[in-house]
Amino acid sequence: MAKTYQVVIVGGGMVGATAACLLAEKGVSVALIDAGEPMADWPSDTYDLRVSALTLLSINLFKSLGIWSDIVQLGEQAVQKMFVWDHFGSGELDIDSADAGEAKMGSVVENRITVSAIWKKLETLDCCDLFTASELEGFNTDEEGVNIELSGGEIIRASLLVGADGSNSKIRRLSGIDDYGWEYQQKALVATVKPEKSHQNTAWQRFLPEGPLALLPLRDDLISIVWTSNTETTDANLQLSEGDFCNALADASEYQLGSFELIGERGAFPLKLQFSSEYCQDRMVLIGDAIHTIHPLAGQGANLGLKDAVTLADVVLNADQANRDIASQQVLRRYERQRKGDNLLMMGMMDGFKRLFGADEALVQLARSSGMGLINQSTFLKNQICKYAMGI
Ligand SMILES: Cc1cc2nc3c(=O)[nH]c(=O)nc-3n(C[C@H](O)[C@H](O)[C@H](O)COP(=O)(O)OP(=O)(O)OC[C@H]3O[C@@H](n4cnc5c(N)ncnc54)[C@H](O)[C@@H]3O)c2cc1C
Repeated sequence: MAKTYQVVIVGGGMVGATAACLLAEKGVSVALIDAGEPMADWPSDTYDLRVSALTLLSINLFKSLGIWSDIVQLGEQAVQKMFVWDHFGSGELDIDSADAGEAKMGSVVENRITVSAIWKKLETLDCCDLFTASELEGFNTDEEGVNIELSGGEIIRASLLVGADGSNSKIRRLSGIDDYGWEYQQKALVATVKPEKSHQNTAWQRFLPEGPLALLPLRDDLISIVWTSNTETTDANLQLSEGDFCNALADASEYQLGSFELIGERGAFPLKLQFSSEYCQDRMVLIGDAIHTIHPLAGQGANLGLKDAVTLADVVLNADQANRDIASQQVLRRYERQRKGDNLLMMGMMDGFKRLFGADEALVQLARSSGMGLINQSTFLKNQICKYAMGI
């Protein structure tokens, strides 16, 4: 007979693993399935190319799960300030979390550090079974539950199946849920570099004609870059020699941090906007990138997914405590209603920013530059932006 859980979560990235933690620590029986094997250790002088700027809200979530101290020990970098400037004119914006009464607006953490800290906690939870190097092959739903077939041929059963399997979600596809959106015809080039000058705990972002260049402060006085350009430009930048690449980067950042030395490899991710109109079906629900993939220009994708995880855990735990079916449409639609507005708003804003800062019409450039100048003179508006960046 198939082993039965209350919840089976497919996808043990930041979002799925957090959802598993939130449920299992409250006594819900959970199986977490991931196709890969989360990294448990790595040489201390290597850096993950995938990093996330986590908001204070996400940090507080990890504190409440008791894993923030592990993340700090493995290496996080506080972000206290933000400096944004435009390639056109003199528009710039400098925001300091101290002005909003906070010691920092967030932290930059390598994804492998966050994921490994969550998995370490999961290993301590009796209610959670972990399946690694195991893929979901298919599933079928009946009135009482869902049978989930894993790649090894094993079948497990759950009251509720959660798809946290990323932007190419197989669960979304098998459910026939449509996704909408478009490719940006752009790629984000990611790399770790050592700057000549201190990063001053500041997230630097310059809007260039093809897209934003973000220089995020990383542990060990390093910088993690996310450089968005048209596909051809990114591919050409990937081919440059290390020296030429560092010179191009210093040029693109107007030498704000001086020259750079490349640490490790470069990588690139094609960018798209993608969203689903439906978040749930019979006994199945989607969270994280499986329902929304957004432009990384404001570093919000993982933060949004973590909010999905918290809301889903809340509605499921409430139903469980009230002895109601945790996978009823009433419960799952409550989650969908609570998250859809926030997700769509963030997606629309990121897409709007991308278009505003990508526009090369002289009038738009002028309005953009003077708009930034006006905001920069208003402490109130800057504090609002700061709170938004903190996730408040
Ligand atoms: C360049 C770049 C920079 C970014 N910067 C930021 C940032 O600063 N801040 C921020 O908040 N967000 C950022 N993001 C977005 C963020 O990385 C994503 O939103 C986040 O990682 C999504 O997490 P997830 O858990 O939903 O999905 P994923 O991280 O994609 O995890 C999905 C998991 O599902 C597993 N899986 C897939 N299919 C199966 C299957 N069939 N069976 C079993 N397992 C399966 C995979 O192995 C994987 O572990 C950035 C994105 C990019 C591209």
